Amino acid sequence: MPVDKSQIREKESVVVEGIELTADWNRMFEQRVVFDYDTTALDKVTDLAGGESMGWCYQCGKCVPVCPVDNVGEYGPRKIFRSLQLGEDLFNSDELWKCTTCMNCLRVCPKEVDMIKIMPAVREEAVMEGKVPEELQEVFEKTFEYGNPLGESQRKRADWTKDAGVEVPLMKDIKRPVDMLWFVECYPAYHTRGQDASRALARILNLLGTDYGILGTEEKCSCDSQRLAGETGLFEEFAEYNIGLFNKYKVKKVMVTDPHALNAFRKEYPKLGGKFETIHYTTYLAPLMEKLNFTKKLNYKVTFHDPCYLGRHNGEFDAPRNCLTAIPGVELIEMGRCREQSYCCGGGGGGMWLDGFMADHVTERLSENRVREAVETGADVLAVCCPYEVSRFEDAVKSTGNEGKLLVKDIAELIDEAL
Ligand code: SF4
Ligand code: SF4
Repeated sequence: MPVDKSQIREKESVVVEGIELTADWNRMFEQRVVFDYDTTALDKVTDLAGGESMGWCYQCGKCVPVCPVDNVGEYGPRKIFRSLQLGEDLFNSDELWKCTTCMNCLRVCPKEVDMIKIMPAVREEAVMEGKVPEELQEVFEKTFEYGNPLGESQRKRADWTKDAGVEVPLMKDIKRPVDMLWFVECYPAYHTRGQDASRALARILNLLGTDYGILGTEEKCSCDSQRLAGETGLFEEFAEYNIGLFNKYKVKKVMVTDPHALNAFRKEYPKLGGKFETIHYTTYLAPLMEKLNFTKKLNYKVTFHDPCYLGRHNGEFDAPRNCLTAIPGVELIEMGRCREQSYCCGGGGGGMWLDGFMADHVTERLSENRVREAVETGADVLAVCCPYEVSRFEDAVKSTGNEGKLLVKDIAELIDEAL
């Protein structure tokens, strides 16, 4: 029989089925303490520098529908907080590796629960204890040994320049400070499709008469994704190395191809003494588009994928769009999830190297979900400006059966094609 508690309050006691219930408030308070949950698992996270905000969650659920991983599985900060309340040890859980640090939950969270700080903090502890998915551990080792996550020879880092059709100046040969250092990064230097975009960008820079140089075989990975995946020590070592190079060449301004490098250089390298301005290549090109003499009309319907680390993390939404709409014949069609609300390709926060691991946890890859959305717009081309995306989306075009319907091209490739 349900007990009417207000009745107890009024009468101090009430008899229910022959048993007298008393409003013994002290005893009830003690019982509440007994029935409170064990906070040990949650405390382990909130006690870490960076993990504090995990404890601020009040379970409103706003983060769940915007989490790209939840779209294809079961995830989000609300669910992680709840599992911690139930005593699950995040340090030993697969849940630790699913977050792509896309920042979409932080955008909507009224309590500012910050997965961009929580995830690296907890992952760092897991990495120190050797509890890392195998494929991610391999990437850490390749980065340490070769200076890049692909495990390619450092000596080949500038080989892509040989087929660029223009001279790509090396800082070690120029022997003077330049207006702008182009930090090429690993995928644009080694991955076949990344190299295509790099060659296109080199031709554009040369046409514009930009005074630039690249580091070539001296450059090493910016390591931001490794940092977000928990390898703080590796990140610091590589950051100090790259900062040393920037100082040697008296670099004041850096242009990056990769939004992850942009994020590292703007937010993390200054903490280690790096003092220089950094811009993305679309930010550099957008105001210069009218100086380019286009000779071709492309006649493409183009949809654009905002990279999480260029858009939400660093506030650049307009420059890529301004580059695209300045190309003759390009019609820009937006996807439903765009700009601040853009969907994630799945590559951030170490996700680039966790596709095998994620396959056991999601119904489809995030890149596949995104490609389906791009196809629905009726676009011929999915334009990208992050080097992780060309390979991810080209694979997803094939695996979703959309080959021949959608091309994936870097913005630099599209500009170059129209020149
Ligand atoms: S939006 Fe923030 S407060 Fe609300 S459930 Fe998600 S993490 Fe918790
Ligand atoms: S950062 Fe992105 S992937 Fe991670 S929990 Fe938040 S919304 Fe999901």
